[in-house]
Amino acid sequence: MKKQLHPEYKKAKVTCACGNSFETGSTKDELKVEICSGCHPFYTGKQKLVDSGGRVEKFKKKYGLK
Ligand SMILES: [Zn+2]
Repeated sequence: MKKQLHPEYKKAKVTCACGNSFETGSTKDELKVEICSGCHPFYTGKQKLVDSGGRVEKFKKKYGLK
């Protein structure tokens, strides 16, 4: 039997460096990624929003705007 010739496309558990884990289709049982859709700023927008929000607050205080 040569299973290697016909790898099954099955569910693989993906574990991200942020601790998030999810399932995806893969020929492997396990996958490890450093960034995922749950923690990537591009998808979450959190880091960018927090950063710009702080800048806006400083800007408003500096110029006395509400
Ligand atoms: Zn992640």
